[in-house]
Amino acid sequence: MAPSDCFPVPNPGECFWQAEPHELNDFRSTEQLPEHADIVIIGAGYAGASTAYHLLRDHGEKVKSITILEARGACSGATGRNGGHLRPDFYGHIPTYVDRAGVRAGAEIAEFEISHLHAMKKVIEEENIDCDFTLARSIDVWCNEEAANKAKAVYERMKSLDLEYMNDVAFYTGKNVEGICGVKGALACASFTAGTMWPYKFILHILKSSLATGKVNLQTFTPATAITPGTEGGFTIETPRGKIHAGTVIHANNAYVAGLLPEYEKNIVPCKGICCRITVPEGTTAPLLNNSYINRTEDNTLSYLIPRPDGSIIVGGASSKFRPFQDQWYNNVDDSVLIDSAKDYYEGYMQRTYRGWEDSGARVDKIWTGVMGYSYDSNPHIGAVPGKDDQFILAGFNGHGMPVIWRSAQELARMVIEKVSFEETGMPQLFKTTQFRIDRALNGQESDGDILGTGNFPSTKP
Ligand SMILES: Cc1cc2nc3c(=O)[nH]c(=O)nc-3n(C[C@H](O)[C@H](O)[C@H](O)COP(=O)(O)OP(=O)(O)OC[C@H]3O[C@@H](n4cnc5c(N)ncnc54)[C@H](O)[C@@H]3O)c2cc1C
Repeated sequence: MAPSDCFPVPNPGECFWQAEPHELNDFRSTEQLPEHADIVIIGAGYAGASTAYHLLRDHGEKVKSITILEARGACSGATGRNGGHLRPDFYGHIPTYVDRAGVRAGAEIAEFEISHLHAMKKVIEEENIDCDFTLARSIDVWCNEEAANKAKAVYERMKSLDLEYMNDVAFYTGKNVEGICGVKGALACASFTAGTMWPYKFILHILKSSLATGKVNLQTFTPATAITPGTEGGFTIETPRGKIHAGTVIHANNAYVAGLLPEYEKNIVPCKGICCRITVPEGTTAPLLNNSYINRTEDNTLSYLIPRPDGSIIVGGASSKFRPFQDQWYNNVDDSVLIDSAKDYYEGYMQRTYRGWEDSGARVDKIWTGVMGYSYDSNPHIGAVPGKDDQFILAGFNGHGMPVIWRSAQELARMVIEKVSFEETGMPQLFKTTQFRIDRALNGQESDGDILGTGNFPSTKP
């Protein structure tokens, strides 16, 4: 797919989280596009909405006008179609970052992500946001012997690095594992603190509170199609509904960033994932699960799973089932269709996975796909777009934006308004977008990157 095609499709498939569209779904603050906004944000997902929120909450007196351009309905992208798992990375990718850039560079990512749990709990409580937030444990499960042994070795290695945050992790092997996690055939499991939520409700709430300031103009169903330097400074942003002039542009369109910034074409690639909601027959009660999970089967098929307060289950993943069929998921923006090779995987999932669910009658109630922005080196790109003054980016959040975006948006807002450098923010160094990272992916092989290949590229040591 060429960058010129890297735009959201107009007809996303139905999805449980958005079954009742919010009043802002198709909202336009004004009938016509404003002629000018000091700041134009492209994308009204988690990244765009959180950036607007922080610009106003933390710097309100310095912000005069923000326009948010959203190609489809508000929060209709990955954020409105995801797994609802607010699960920091403690030891998943962190060891790779430690190998590539040193212990501190890896650990600061884990610490930053963990800090989201309390930061988000705080804003949800302060703003009284109805989004089914829970704070509990996330349980990692391994049913394959070799994978379980490797996981144990990683755990031991991370503990040996003397990282304070690892004290929250409990790792179990031996005969009690199945009884601890409830997953049939589990050989090892681990748990740590994590959250679950209804992301669509969270984002629509903060969008609404930003609009209430009177400084934000939201324009849904208005894709930005091109950005050119304005004749008297700033930028002209084209849309099918006319042009808008902006002093500053913030690219918060994640998987689709290459549509407007083609230099990111190899760095942030749109990749599809699949997710579903499982329910038990009406009138019956589902066995209680009160933790979230990452389950790996005997054949190493990974699924993320959260229980919901209504007894239903949100579960997705199964990438090993569709990975060989690249045309079904890689460099693909079509969230109007399911992924053929994985669409049946979750039928009977709860019965075959969990103790006590055998006779539950659990069935897939809704199933959908979403488009993620996979990053060549697994890290998001955040900060000033190299070589493009007054343009900023926060994108490339993989299947993992929930514990990353909130505080990144807060720090990016400081860069935009207070003109602080990336290094002066609290963001992990590896998140910084740089010409080096852009070139490394542009000039490298797909097979050397993290998305399709080995991750065998030059490291990002500062
Ligand atoms: C199936 C699935 C399950 C997932 N599960 C989890 C999970 O459990 N936990 C987790 O941490 N992460 C998960 N993720 C990843 C997470 O959802 C993303 O990392 C996060 O939502 C990204 O937020 P965003 O705002 O950057 O992107 P998006 O939510 O995609 O927002 C980008 C917005 O930009 C708009 N846009 C694009 N191009 C333009 C344009 N040219 N003009 C105007 N608007 C434009 C899009 O329409 C979209 O609304 C999952 C993702 C998927 C797809």
